[in-house]
Amino acid sequence: MTQLDSQSPFDLIVIGGGSGGLAAARRSAQYGAKVLLVEGAELGGTCVHRGCVPKKMLFNAAHIAESMRDAPSYGFQTVQPAFEWERFRQGRAERLTRLEGIYSRNLDLDGVELLHGWAKVCGKIGPESHPFAIEVDGNKFFASHLLLAPGGEPVRPNIPGAQHGLTSDDFFELRTQPKQVAVIGAGYIAVELAGVLNALGSKVTLVCRGHAPLRKFDQMLSEHLLSEMVEEGIEVVSQFTPASLSVEDGKKRLVSEQGTSIHAFDEVIWAIGRRPRLDSLGVNSLELDLTATGHIATDQFEKTSENNVFAIGDVTGKKELTPVAIAAGRCLADRVFGKKGDVYLDYEDIPTVVFSHPPIGTLGLSEDEAKERYGDNIKCYQSKFVDLYHSFSHRRSQTLMKIVTAGTSEKVVGLHVIGRSADELLQGFAVALKMGATKADFDRAVAIHPTASEEFVTMR
Ligand code: FAD
Ligand code: NDP
Repeated sequence: MTQLDSQSPFDLIVIGGGSGGLAAARRSAQYGAKVLLVEGAELGGTCVHRGCVPKKMLFNAAHIAESMRDAPSYGFQTVQPAFEWERFRQGRAERLTRLEGIYSRNLDLDGVELLHGWAKVCGKIGPESHPFAIEVDGNKFFASHLLLAPGGEPVRPNIPGAQHGLTSDDFFELRTQPKQVAVIGAGYIAVELAGVLNALGSKVTLVCRGHAPLRKFDQMLSEHLLSEMVEEGIEVVSQFTPASLSVEDGKKRLVSEQGTSIHAFDEVIWAIGRRPRLDSLGVNSLELDLTATGHIATDQFEKTSENNVFAIGDVTGKKELTPVAIAAGRCLADRVFGKKGDVYLDYEDIPTVVFSHPPIGTLGLSEDEAKERYGDNIKCYQSKFVDLYHSFSHRRSQTLMKIVTAGTSEKVVGLHVIGRSADELLQGFAVALKMGATKADFDRAVAIHPTASEEFVTMR
């Protein structure tokens, strides 16, 4: 039972204590707003508990395993990586619990009221000053502004036996490392999970409906990732659309729409996308407009179709990334409670990293997108090299980089890199792009040597 006074109204009620909800609640309270944040599960949301953070920890573990394999080339004696999955999982869980404690303390410091429970929107039934009502465990709370930040959830396909496969949420709960595993999908999660499992010693099959993973990314990235995955020992099965999943003698078998089958998997992981988490939120009570994909429709100010009701993060389907949800939440608080004018998040030129093996950094337009927008008025610069690290290791993995420019001034409109350290390479360049940098500006910058990033300012 809550200790909160359900009669005392709030300036803002936030539903969802994930990346976006936490950021918006804290920033609003810092401006003096009376804020209630409701979270049904763990504070921190997908990113902290079933997304970015546990995934990056696994990525780091995989990196260590790869370094051990490379070590003999650098003069070390041979070390055989023996990864203890469950010991790692427990250590990770402890750290995530600690993170949750930090989030809770920060809310306290900012004066945000926290309520644990599942919230349901009850519509506009309150007084004129605080019309929006939500219900949690039978108690109603009222506010003048409502922010919906319930995030999303992974989907399973609608085919027989889909329940035998795991989602990414289930994957993070696994107590043993699957020896033989099929990862179905072609997006971020599929290539990231396939990469870490392979590096940690599982036998991995990546199953794509199309020809290659990441087909919406710049073609250079998609093609090179495919060849690197195959080189690293991942079996890539393309043109395979799953039609059924069954279990025979404890092993899992997939049959495709095309009539082919693959089998003998300990686990099958669905990584075929996510949907907004709206099922029990009660948004019908406000008759909010939804997009064609079923996300909550919002304008550039994150406003829904109902005045003073906002939505941010994955539930809007705009760009499903943690820093995007955070930035949208902070802009909203700055505008509504900080009186900072019409500030809003610009969704153009958002940098992103795919923690694949090797990792990918990408920013702005792909070459194909640039052609669509600027026609023939584009010029691309490309570079391909073996990183100094790999010139010494037994792996001859290459790094590929591309600069996409537009117009006679050669304004940089896209930057793409795949290769060692690509995950740490683009943040600074994102600032340059936002400032409207041209290729000539890149050329004027002096290189940092010996690094991979210097290629971006020395390309001809
Ligand atoms: P969430 O973080 O999902 O938070 C929503 C919260 O709302 C949840 O805690 C949920 O319990 C709560 N909630 C829902 N309904 C209710 C209700 N009715 N009442 C009370 N509480 C409710 N992004 C990156 O930028 N980098 C990465 O490396 C990255 N890796 C990822 C890896 C994986 C496997 C996944 C799945 C995602 C990854 N993402 C990554 C995406 C990122 O996690 C999301 O974009 C981000 O978490 C979205 O934040 P959000 O606030 O919209 O939602
Ligand atoms: P994505 O939308 O990135 O990719 C899913 C892909 O799966 C689709 O693009 C599609 O590719 C394929 N697919 C869809 N349906 C089927 C089907 N029925 N059978 C087989 N394949 C199918 O979703 P994810 O789940 O990978 O990730 C969700 C979002 O989370 C990402 O878009 C990203 O925004 C975020 N995320 C970010 C990360 C990061 O920042 N590093 C990491 C992980 C997630 P195709 O059409 O080519 O077949």
